[in-house]
Amino acid sequence: MLIVMKAGATNEEVDAVVRVISELGYRAHPMPGAARTAIGITGNPSAIDPSHFENLPGVAEAVRVSKPYKLVTLDLHAEKTVIRVGDAAIGGDELAIIAGPCAIESRGQAFAVAEAVRRSGARFFRGGAFKPRTSPYAFQGLGEEGLRILAEIRDAYGLKIVTEALDEAGVDLVERYGDMIQIGARSMQNFTLLRRAGKSRLPVLLKRGLSATLDEWLLAAEYIMSEGNYQVVLCERGIRTFSQHTRNTLDLAVIPAVRRVSHLPVVVDPSHGTGKNYMVTALARAGVAVGADGLIVEVHNSPDQALSDGAQALTLEQYEQLVGEVRAIHEVMMPATVT
Ligand code: PEP
Ligand code: MN
Repeated sequence: MLIVMKAGATNEEVDAVVRVISELGYRAHPMPGAARTAIGITGNPSAIDPSHFENLPGVAEAVRVSKPYKLVTLDLHAEKTVIRVGDAAIGGDELAIIAGPCAIESRGQAFAVAEAVRRSGARFFRGGAFKPRTSPYAFQGLGEEGLRILAEIRDAYGLKIVTEALDEAGVDLVERYGDMIQIGARSMQNFTLLRRAGKSRLPVLLKRGLSATLDEWLLAAEYIMSEGNYQVVLCERGIRTFSQHTRNTLDLAVIPAVRRVSHLPVVVDPSHGTGKNYMVTALARAGVAVGADGLIVEVHNSPDQALSDGAQALTLEQYEQLVGEVRAIHEVMMPATVT
């Protein structure tokens, strides 16, 4: 159930509804919107009697939510949510660009890429310190040392740091050194990790699982939000199909599908979504054209020598070219995407 407040409802009236929800033993999730505040309710094992709320001051209506998710839905928050990461944002008017190497390999490598990312005007730097690799013998990342390099990059360039946490201890570390927690495709249904991220003060970039349906992906976001962290950005990074011409099949149709049901911003990862350098720019253009709020792109100063995902990494020059192109597309898109 969700409680829709009247347009002019006061903070005290919202607080009173929250109190009633807590007294019933449930959790209240107030979401202020442009026109009115709605309050989501979770933790109720069965339907709630709307009469608990209908006569409270400031309440417009108590609405049953029939969908499996209660907090990611547009029913709760009709406008697209803008996720703020310090003074940068994802989901606002500006196209968000998150760029950097797959993995932090060395200080020299990370700084060389970060310099180009900064020069492009992007606000976010990505780079894995903990890498979820298919083989246990492949490069696993530099661990905390990689995070220290990322923190130096943040200080030197003012870029917001987006980096993956593989487990709960990893979230503690990302909270210490980073600005946004990435939850990888392989971890999308690691429910203890999702709940831990839900208790974090940092926003979360939630990648779609390799074989996740839209509902499964949104319910993973719901895990995070149900713990009180509403700052979730979805990331389409390609799914496993029978296709052999790409590493994954980038499901761009999921962008308008997300838009139709959820207020959360969504970004596209054309790097993992194709696995091939020569396809990345084309799919990045398409991702922006289909209405993504941003891109996450892998870039390397020397892709041939990359310790992970070199085949899909853009060179610094290719990256610079991509940014110019996708910004131009986003400009043209603006009247359609601003609601
Ligand atoms: C990554 O971003 O480098 C990564 C491991 O992504 P994914 O979880 O989408 O495979
Ligand atoms: Mn990668």
